[in-house]
Amino acid sequence: MVSIISRSAWGARPPRSRSTTTWSRRVEVTVHYSAGPTTQTPRQIQNFHMDSNGWADIGYNFLVDTHGNAYEGRGWLVIGAHAAPRNTEGIGVCFIGRDGDATAAAKRTVRALYDEANRRAGRTLMRKGHRDVNPTACPGNDLYGWLRAGMPVNGGSPPGSAPPWPGVYLRYPPITRHSSVTTWQSRMRQRGWRITVDGAYGPASRNVCIEFQREKRLGVDGIVGPETWRATWEAPITP
Ligand SMILES: [Zn+2]
Repeated sequence: MVSIISRSAWGARPPRSRSTTTWSRRVEVTVHYSAGPTTQTPRQIQNFHMDSNGWADIGYNFLVDTHGNAYEGRGWLVIGAHAAPRNTEGIGVCFIGRDGDATAAAKRTVRALYDEANRRAGRTLMRKGHRDVNPTACPGNDLYGWLRAGMPVNGGSPPGSAPPWPGVYLRYPPITRHSSVTTWQSRMRQRGWRITVDGAYGPASRNVCIEFQREKRLGVDGIVGPETWRATWEAPITP
């Protein structure tokens, strides 16, 4: 299972309109790159799609950043705006970055989204790059070659193991806002903790961290350091 950061967690604007399709009509997963900086947020991409392109919502069904975070765009069955005329058939997954920026963590997550799509569809969907549908360089030579090679994820840690510790961001008072807070909060929610996924490491997040550290018999300091971060991804996950 792939952990997906929900629209509310990343502060998505509501769509102006939406139409849905069905799993029986989904036949492919279409991979894109944003061709912009890796620091771009889903919200910035959504603003561009809605305000400059005049679209109903962010164009993609999902987005993936260099840390391997997956973000919900339009989701599994809402028809996107990413590779006309095959938006009904294709689930658009966009890597946030330029050609060559995709990390092993990002590729693992794109692959996990593809595997999850197959699981939900109940059959194997085609792997496509945007350039298979439209005349474009998207998703860049690196991702496209990886797609054609069958999306191998060997050599990295398997899906579900801890992403790299993001650094000193998960402490109270917060040093700065950081997407890793959202990642940690959604993982803790999956584990069954009552925690708001809002990307802000406030006193409530610190309290959850302290309880978790006690349960795991870690050093109790209310800070998600490397050990606590790793423990967050350890089995078992209580749904
Ligand atoms: Zn594209």
